[in-house]
Amino acid sequence: MKVTFVIEDAMSNRWLGPELTPHLWAMVADGGGRCAAGGESVMSSATYPNHATFVTGLEPVDHRVLVNRVWNGSEFVGSNQVGPIGETVFEAARRAGVSTAAIVGDHKLVGVMGADRADLHWPPGGVRPKVELDEFRYAVNQAVLDAWDTNHPGPGAVDLSIVHFNDPDTASHLHGPDSPEARERMRLTDADFGSLLERIRPEWDDSVVIVVSDHDQETVWGEGFDLGAVLAAKGLPGIVEPEGTAALVLDGPDKEVLLGLDGVAGAVDIDESNTLVWGPEGQVFGEWFDFLHGAHGGPRCRAQVAAVGGGHPVVAELATALAGRRPAAADWAPTLAKLCGFHLDGSTGHSLI
Ligand SMILES: [Zn+2]
Repeated sequence: MKVTFVIEDAMSNRWLGPELTPHLWAMVADGGGRCAAGGESVMSSATYPNHATFVTGLEPVDHRVLVNRVWNGSEFVGSNQVGPIGETVFEAARRAGVSTAAIVGDHKLVGVMGADRADLHWPPGGVRPKVELDEFRYAVNQAVLDAWDTNHPGPGAVDLSIVHFNDPDTASHLHGPDSPEARERMRLTDADFGSLLERIRPEWDDSVVIVVSDHDQETVWGEGFDLGAVLAAKGLPGIVEPEGTAALVLDGPDKEVLLGLDGVAGAVDIDESNTLVWGPEGQVFGEWFDFLHGAHGGPRCRAQVAAVGGGHPVVAELATALAGRRPAAADWAPTLAKLCGFHLDGSTGHSLI
């Protein structure tokens, strides 16, 4: 069996359908399946916490990528510099002699997912590649497909391939997730996904293709809300790390105190030191730019695409499972382990088969 796990960054489950995503739709109709309500992201509903969960099957409280940047004891640094705590599918697969490849549009995901331990990863070393870049300077989808053509030995030669398309996330940040521009980029991303399927087609009968997104986005407006300044003005403790429509508060006041502040609509304690808060609709935390109209991080962006296809007989079982329950982000890593026949240490997710 050959498994391809495709992550379409910020592809909105709300917009899937025969018009906007015909290739995904056709795959589902052709013996595949999907969870109509979508899967459920971890909190925060940011890119890196979810990708760390995709490869470890651990919740953020365990792999420690709570938001895109992680606290190293003295400051917040990029999670790509640290990677997730816990075993990844790349390490577990290698132990079992299962081959892996990771090709990602956001180069930082190599570090975030520990993908340098895959048998093949691109871009090399997680360094921004010299290819066509999008408005946020991430590799465009076509560059990801080109990287597949240049580096991947073919669908029959790798047991587990992970592919990340970044385009929908950038367009949704710039224009808002429900804008015509974002929807057009989602349509084009589905076409790129269709191109990827053509590359897998020669091995179709032996293939399982899983398609997810890491999070949705929501429309935002106004200036960023500076929670750190509010805490300081009130003489309250806490280091605030903004994460789009959410913010992490480290060593801050009790949750109840945070909930009493204007600009805090909800909060959840992650552990003894960390509380994640989110705001009312439309509000982002921290510095923000008025040319950005979409963001994520809070609970309104948790819906993930969750679809499966392929010609292998196990696809029917996966489709039935997806029809029956919403998969959590942490369920995918143990599912990949079960499909590919390796044991993943420590995962707290539940395999769909
Ligand atoms: Zn993302």
